[in-house]
Amino acid sequence: MNYFAPSVETLIDEFSKLPGIGRKTAQRLAFHILNLPKEDADKLAQAITAAKNTIHLCPVCQNLTDEELCPICADPARDHKTICVVADPKDVLAFEKTREYQGLYHVLHGTISPLNHVGPDDLSIRELLHRVAEEDIEEVILATNPDTEGEATAMYLARLLKPFHIRVSRLAYGIPVGGQLEYIDEVTLMRALDGRHNIE
Ligand SMILES: [Zn+2]
Repeated sequence: MNYFAPSVETLIDEFSKLPGIGRKTAQRLAFHILNLPKEDADKLAQAITAAKNTIHLCPVCQNLTDEELCPICADPARDHKTICVVADPKDVLAFEKTREYQGLYHVLHGTISPLNHVGPDDLSIRELLHRVAEEDIEEVILATNPDTEGEATAMYLARLLKPFHIRVSRLAYGIPVGGQLEYIDEVTLMRALDGRHNIE
């Protein structure tokens, strides 16, 4: 039995499909929208439609863009011989904020996750291999998250990239400052051990 008018129910249903939004939050958002002045609600609806109509994947790096090529791929001042592979468009932003990295990116749009039925074919791996095969790439940095799925994806990609005889690197991850060994998961600890360096 539905407690709300069908159009309200539809709105709640749509909100509850969004990541991290449960039924209660969806209801709160729906009632917030219903309480908005009509022009504000129209603006929100138009912003969603406009973004959906103009944003597409950059044909090179698969990041979201509203231009033919994304601004990073289109920038001749960037290092076009280095590709940093990330799982998510948000990770590109994180790297760009550091202002350290000058190379290009490749966005996988996820990580291999058998539990969530995400296999290699669901990610933009074919596009990455195509770039490495066709372009003059010297290094691929595997910058997926240092969690189980990110590690598995990086290992999988490293294997696929091996025949190209280019440098394939993985970000060095360590124990966070202030972290305690007993609370660190084994992947992080293993990485920290692998990446250990000599001290004077
Ligand atoms: Zn691009």
